[in-house]
Amino acid sequence: MKLYELTIHEAHELLKKGEVTSSELVSAVVERVEGVEPRVKSYITLTCEQALERARQADELIARLRKSGEEIPPLLGIPIAIKDIICTEGIRTTCASRILENFIPPYDATVIIRLKKAGMVMIGKTNLDEFAMGSSTENSAFFPTRNPWDLERVPGGSSGGSAAAVAAGECIGSLGTDTGGSVRQPAALCGVVGLKPTYGRVSRYGLVAFASSLDQIGPITKDVTDAALLLNIIAGYDPHDSTSVNVPVPDYTKALVPDVKGIKLGVPKEYFIEGMEEGVEKAVREAIAKLEEMGAEVIEISLPHTEYALPAYYLIAPAEASANLARYDGVKYGLFLPGPDLWESYRLTRGNGFGPEVKRRIMLGTYALSAGYYDAYYLKAQKVRTLIKQDFDRAFEQVDVIVAPTSPTVAFRLGEKVDDPLKMYLSDVFTIPVNLAGICGISIPCGFSGGLPVGLQIMGPAFGEEIVLRVAYAYEQATEWHKKRPEL
Ligand code: GLN
Repeated sequence: MKLYELTIHEAHELLKKGEVTSSELVSAVVERVEGVEPRVKSYITLTCEQALERARQADELIARLRKSGEEIPPLLGIPIAIKDIICTEGIRTTCASRILENFIPPYDATVIIRLKKAGMVMIGKTNLDEFAMGSSTENSAFFPTRNPWDLERVPGGSSGGSAAAVAAGECIGSLGTDTGGSVRQPAALCGVVGLKPTYGRVSRYGLVAFASSLDQIGPITKDVTDAALLLNIIAGYDPHDSTSVNVPVPDYTKALVPDVKGIKLGVPKEYFIEGMEEGVEKAVREAIAKLEEMGAEVIEISLPHTEYALPAYYLIAPAEASANLARYDGVKYGLFLPGPDLWESYRLTRGNGFGPEVKRRIMLGTYALSAGYYDAYYLKAQKVRTLIKQDFDRAFEQVDVIVAPTSPTVAFRLGEKVDDPLKMYLSDVFTIPVNLAGICGISIPCGFSGGLPVGLQIMGPAFGEEIVLRVAYAYEQATEWHKKRPEL
């Protein structure tokens, strides 16, 4: 096995035993990046030099800890990729936008502080749809990322760079962000694992805001164990984020029990819709049958307001985005294009700094919030959001987790949906309800359709990450899908 193919937990074991050094591991990943990055294009910024230096330091620390018999932190010496919307001190954080092309944050996001404390070696900042708005990574202001399974196809989005980097072996694990599906959908399309934690589980401090009531940072990894390991590190209360919740963080790896006997799986009929790809439905139905065969109880359920989730999201998320993105005025930071007066300077800066999708969202959001339309659009969407949450509340009285496809299709072709925003938005029909309800969900590989990976989504109640991880782990251990890697 090649070193860049290792999972976090495998790499950790080898480092612990002294069978491999962090320098070897990081060098292997750097070489892999050099080999495949020109084709995949996962990264906006690479930090290979710093990574190799950090690896040397990690090796010294590992040697010292081994000598004194102390525990080796779980991420020590392991190369991790970070979505380029999470602030990293001294390292450019662009959000894949021209407006922040040269922005260097003066501080680390809370998740970065936590990962560094656990010993992470950051390998680079990954590509995304501008400000995380999109489902294909084609909205990046710089270049699209390609799907490692088929370079003519998209990796999904908006965390497409993070998912492609994991699938291509350009890092050992990564972080993405999920506002409407951006961790789970690219994970599904790239054949890897993506976990969206419960709203409030992970601090958003230092995550550049898209839609603050929906955004959540989550791990994208090669297997479920790694997702649990990363969640252990990034989860927890943070006084810097008033929406982070002060509930104890369990050891999520303890939830990794390969047993689903008696667990009640809800299968929502609204998630098996017309227009969904046949091969996707087949793979997901087979995965559900497999879980049933393993002893889970399958119960058909209804989430009756599902069809309103997408329209509600496309009012709430743009409304919040229009407010959040008002700060990019050229005065405080980022791009500044001076004009003859202040208004003209704003117009030039924002007009040139934002791409078309971001502008579309700002206009939609500003309209939905404007006097006279607020009640009809924004307020109504908030009411729908409550109904969607209540659908899930009722369902979780009856079942432990809900299983469904992550995405209605496999990876689509580059360019296929760029001219049709509605078609692009439909990519997230199955992931958006989870964000609106504030609950958690994971996508794990469950098969292939036409040679491309299919994702199984497992949704759980608020702070139900343990049961979600358990079902995901049990399925993973009983199948081989997570071991499949694209040939590059
Ligand atoms: N694709 C959705 C959107 O464009 C979700 C994006 C996300 O989760 N960041 O808004």
